[in-house]
Amino acid sequence: MSSFTILVVEDEEAIRSMLVMVLEQAGFNAIAAGDAQVAQSVLDDTVPDLIILDWMLPGISGVEWARRLKKESVYQDIPIILLTARGEEEDKIRGLEVGADDYMTKPFSPKELVARIRAVLRRTSKLQGDGSITLGDLVLDSEQHRLSIADKLLDVSPTEFRLMQFFMTHPDKVFNRTQLLDQVWGRSVYIEERTVDVHIRRLRKILGEYGREDLVQTVRGFGYRFSLVDSGSSTETIQDASLLN
Ligand code: CA
Repeated sequence: MSSFTILVVEDEEAIRSMLVMVLEQAGFNAIAAGDAQVAQSVLDDTVPDLIILDWMLPGISGVEWARRLKKESVYQDIPIILLTARGEEEDKIRGLEVGADDYMTKPFSPKELVARIRAVLRRTSKLQGDGSITLGDLVLDSEQHRLSIADKLLDVSPTEFRLMQFFMTHPDKVFNRTQLLDQVWGRSVYIEERTVDVHIRRLRKILGEYGREDLVQTVRGFGYRFSLVDSGSSTETIQDASLLN
């Protein structure tokens, strides 16, 4: 298994070094930051696979920083586990509301933390083999953030990459715009449905350079589907899907 990089943001030195030790023993790469500003500068160089974020930090709080990250398309997919000294249910809800993927109350057992990290990575589909998806001559490498057709790299934006990642992990299924917005952009951001069409158009244009614009198919009155099978032969599905509209 390749090694995942985890960013630890914790101002208490003792806990921070304990976390780094625990993570490294579990086979992860750990990067430590003492506050959100330092953590933000880490992101300029590295996009970690997961962030362990202390709620109470000097300066920008963990929750506030999490909220900011979830608004930026480049970072919003990074899973976050919030750490807190408080254990109130209300805090937990607030933490999950800003988009944290899990929540742990201090003091916690290192074993449980590692188990939670693995669960979150699995859930966010980062823990699948080497992180790459292959469909026909299409290869999507989640770790390197690369998409290629017949070994040729495609120049896709982070959003289009995530769109392809979602499509390639859910082939042959029809999704409407709202579903795509929820899955690819996230529920927390407000974006017009038309945005989906714009990105689909761009994606098709890029795929079209390789004669593969048919991979992303329009299902009239419903939405879109990714399929390696030509859309010309799937009239039945189109009719079925339109019933759901
Ligand atoms: Ca703290």
